[in-house]
Amino acid sequence: MTTLNDVVVLLGPGLEPWMCKRFEWSADTIVTVDRVEPVLAIEKGTRVIIPGLCNSHTHMGDSCMPDGATGLTLEQGFFRPNGFKYRRLSEISRDEHLPHVVNHLRYMARTGTVAHIDFREQGPDGSELLREASRLSGVDSVILGQFSGVPFGEPELEANSAVLPEDARRELEAILAAGDGFSESTMNDLTDPAWAEIRALTGSLGKLRAIHCLENAGYRDVSLARTGVGDLARALQVYDPDLIVHMTVASAAEVALLSASGKTAALNPRANANLGLPMPPVRALMDAGVNLLLGTDNGLLNSPNLLAELDFTYKLAKSQYGDAVRPDPLAILRMATSNVGRLLGDRHRGYIDKGLPATFVVLDFHQPHLRASQHIPASIVGRVTPEDVLATFREGRPLYKSEWYPGPMGA
Ligand SMILES: [Zn+2]
Repeated sequence: MTTLNDVVVLLGPGLEPWMCKRFEWSADTIVTVDRVEPVLAIEKGTRVIIPGLCNSHTHMGDSCMPDGATGLTLEQGFFRPNGFKYRRLSEISRDEHLPHVVNHLRYMARTGTVAHIDFREQGPDGSELLREASRLSGVDSVILGQFSGVPFGEPELEANSAVLPEDARRELEAILAAGDGFSESTMNDLTDPAWAEIRALTGSLGKLRAIHCLENAGYRDVSLARTGVGDLARALQVYDPDLIVHMTVASAAEVALLSASGKTAALNPRANANLGLPMPPVRALMDAGVNLLLGTDNGLLNSPNLLAELDFTYKLAKSQYGDAVRPDPLAILRMATSNVGRLLGDRHRGYIDKGLPATFVVLDFHQPHLRASQHIPASIVGRVTPEDVLATFREGRPLYKSEWYPGPMGA
């Protein structure tokens, strides 16, 4: 049993901050949450315990090439078969690649992240490499694999009638055996019959489906030209994804379509900004009631530091609301915590309560910029930096402990 005394804990799926006399866990489970009173402001520092964060959109394979896409367009940097990223991935050996990914997962733990949802390139081998990195780091990797190559040529994509070639079908089975589901770059990479096959196979195996949609207008335009349907509507019709990533250039009608579908979306505003794209309509998506998550996207564009994404997204949302009052900072923090439970269920509930897994982050609110916080949730999303993380635990196991843990007040 481990005990922390006199700490602020963000409790339940709503993440309400409570002063707690005792917070205890035993093995992998939280066993005591001794509430005193709700608390918003502090005067002389404390420790603040928040749920372990989930980074809901990453490409950790990129860990070997930080800032490698600088000066390149989306197409030059990221698209198969000849984009910089795919050329680099085809050159690097597994032995060279694995330590980069492990070290980045450890960096994520140091910045408060305990889990991530990854679009993993390089077919089944790519998924297996990430599984090994997850085992070594202790960070939970939800691995959504993608084909190692493009299964169709341009004429087949234009005709939109071919089923998966036999070798792609076998690769799909191996990807699903190695990981947790399937992902692809865009709806335009496969034919509708292929999407239907993937939907059927993932469905029968209970695997997740995800896709990038509406990252730029080209995604919609190509899909419309080929099939008469935009990429989001097409994804919902033929693929039925559990997770839709980006929505960067979504129109009001597309926001309404997503909302009506009840699907979860992951936003990546820093990555969008870094590619010179418009900002995603965070306000419209929040107002429409979409279950929103946050991701840092490609390692070429961003460090996988979700604290930076929280800050950026909070201020972006405030700008879009236009009144400096909305949104509640906890609504932003839920995008990296309890909203994830609606997608991953028991695998990652994303909140803290007695009887739930001991998966949480201890923040040092004794730091000069935090010790007199007048609004703890606003300080968490807008002011906490990686240096303020004292420790990160996943199911009772410390993934990271700073030299200052457990902090000035001791355990
Ligand atoms: Zn992505």
